[in-house]
Amino acid sequence: QNKNVLVAGGAGYIGSHMVKKLLDEGYHVVVLDNLSTGHKKAIDQRAKFYEGDTRDKAFLDRVFQNEDINTVIHMDAFSIVPESMKNPLKYFDNNVIGMIKLLESMVDNHVPNIVFSSTAATFGNPKGNRKITEKDPQNPINPYGESKLIMEKIMKWVSKANHLHYVALRYFNASGADASGKIGEDHHPETHLIPIVMQTAYGQRKNLQIFGDDYDTPDGTNVRDYIHINDLADAHILAMKYLNEGHKSDSFNLGSSKGFSVKQIVDTSRDVTGKPIQANDAPRRPGDPDTLVADSTKAKKVLHWKPKYGIHDIVKTAWNWKEKHPEGYQKY
Ligand code: UDP
Repeated sequence: QNKNVLVAGGAGYIGSHMVKKLLDEGYHVVVLDNLSTGHKKAIDQRAKFYEGDTRDKAFLDRVFQNEDINTVIHMDAFSIVPESMKNPLKYFDNNVIGMIKLLESMVDNHVPNIVFSSTAATFGNPKGNRKITEKDPQNPINPYGESKLIMEKIMKWVSKANHLHYVALRYFNASGADASGKIGEDHHPETHLIPIVMQTAYGQRKNLQIFGDDYDTPDGTNVRDYIHINDLADAHILAMKYLNEGHKSDSFNLGSSKGFSVKQIVDTSRDVTGKPIQANDAPRRPGDPDTLVADSTKAKKVLHWKPKYGIHDIVKTAWNWKEKHPEGYQKY
């Protein structure tokens, strides 16, 4: 069986963990990345790296002609909600055009399978505190979520018309780091909650801001479902196996099925790090839904996915990465 996998966005936070796990499990990995937000040092030495852009069809064709790829894992998108609110065209250009060109090249070069990183942001602001299943309506409330929903839809129609099979995995809040401490989250500027809390614990910032305390949640701060990055990587390997067994294209929600408020994340981080972590109240951030928690029953049943990490492990591994590489990849 062809074990050649291309990870688009393999230099990114999620991509670098995906690449390591694939290599550890005996896959041959080709990384494609334009290094716009990813880091060269995050790419595992064992992988073959092509630097280029997914919007460049000629570049993609060259890669697929050189490498006999069976599955593309598509993790190559901009993913910052507040940035997408300010600059929607940046998101539609990179994310949507990237998907179109990638699928065109996959079809032309007879690459059969794609596993796509989608997001809970495609669900918008679900009513009530119910966990979100795959049957919930998808009504994004920010351009990032909209771009990913468009990408899902494009993939669905292209798969109906061609010999192409997909799995869309809708991540809730990807977080934590590999226990080795060698790879982790490093965005510039950093906008995600857990790395910002870690920066505060480490003394790199005086305090963090809690964006909004009047949401429709138990303590008024946003509730999210934090899922460890290596559990997400496992789900992709299972999705690849699922496609190789000839099952039908489908979508799955990936989360821990547990919600934690911003305040609970700060409290857990105080526990894990032993640091005081100053948190100040701040206004709401545009584009944030009240609560996003996954119902991952389907992924567990159909893909046989078993997430292993809890919220303590997530914060602990994020802290380990921070302590080992306080400046991320900059002073690696
Ligand atoms: N958040 C916060 N302060 C920060 C960063 C994030 O209060 O400095 C909140 C944010 O409003 C959201 C949650 O933390 O409710 C998770 O945000 P993040 O950007 O990590 O992920 P998102 O859910 O936007 O993908």
